[in-house]
Amino acid sequence: MGFCIHWIFLLAQHSVALCILRRLQTSSPLEISAGELIVFHHVLVAGIGALGSEVVKNLGLLGCKSVFIADPDILEEKNITRSLLFRSGSAGENKVSHALDQLRSLFPQTRWAGMPLEIADIPSEKFSSAEVLFSCVDTDLARMEIAALSTQYKLSVCDGGLGGTSTRLGRVSWFPGADTAACFACLLTNRRRAELFSTWESKVHACWVPEPHSQSVWTSTPTMSSIVAGLQIETALSSIQKKEAFSTHLDLDQASISQTIYHPCSTECPLHIERSDIIFPICTLAECRSCGRQFSPDRRISWVRRWAVCPSCGSNELAVRSSVRDEMIVSTL
Ligand SMILES: [Zn+2]
Ligand SMILES: [Zn+2]
Repeated sequence: MGFCIHWIFLLAQHSVALCILRRLQTSSPLEISAGELIVFHHVLVAGIGALGSEVVKNLGLLGCKSVFIADPDILEEKNITRSLLFRSGSAGENKVSHALDQLRSLFPQTRWAGMPLEIADIPSEKFSSAEVLFSCVDTDLARMEIAALSTQYKLSVCDGGLGGTSTRLGRVSWFPGADTAACFACLLTNRRRAELFSTWESKVHACWVPEPHSQSVWTSTPTMSSIVAGLQIETALSSIQKKEAFSTHLDLDQASISQTIYHPCSTECPLHIERSDIIFPICTLAECRSCGRQFSPDRRISWVRRWAVCPSCGSNELAVRSSVRDEMIVSTL
């Protein structure tokens, strides 16, 4: 009898192991690493602030094969104290190159690369070769640009958000990048979507669009960053095959700390229509409002609005005079 039970137990163990193996074997494009952990081959990370540096740390610990990071910022005092990756850095240093140095020495088995650019400016082949994009940015405008890239390249996005009315709030959203799935822009009201589109589509910067740097900054703590970044990785690992968008909301002040909400694709969202190769119109002629100098930035309109300065007087009061691809106007506004 004991012998029989022993064999039944062994058989049960065997079939469970086979089931798990079959599930893992069908979970392409992921694979089983030597330690039987599921890992990603190649991922993109947009933003390496409090959240992004926790996400890349987790990717390194998981043994992700290759990670590409995009962030245009330089290190400030507040980043140095709040991130493990930046503790040896100094203010004024390029954030991406400092992080890459640290990550290469901490996790040599992962191939780390990056550029000190906004995600919308990195070469297109980076998007086509990635399995998922971790969005760790802190403005709705950056999230909209990522949504446009996601729908263009059919790339899944796992977006994290921190804070709000309390430092104990967080959110992780999964956007599969499929034609019929919701993107970040689908979740917005028509008016908000129009506001954000106008910063990269229109030559006239509408007065009701808040300046990119004046948008309210989400509050965050290192502990909440760590929790939300961990949830981002777990969500991406478990959802890579899912074709439906959803968000998990965390509220550590409530008895029920987690709530999942599914998102339908909005019929009003223009990001799901066929579009040309140029996602973001390029400003070919700008004029300085202070000294009248005209010049050709040849950069995205929203980049010019955020970063460009007049080559003569250094003013950032610039008007967009002409741009490439004016035909893609938001038709549903
Ligand atoms: Zn959408
Ligand atoms: Zn000027």
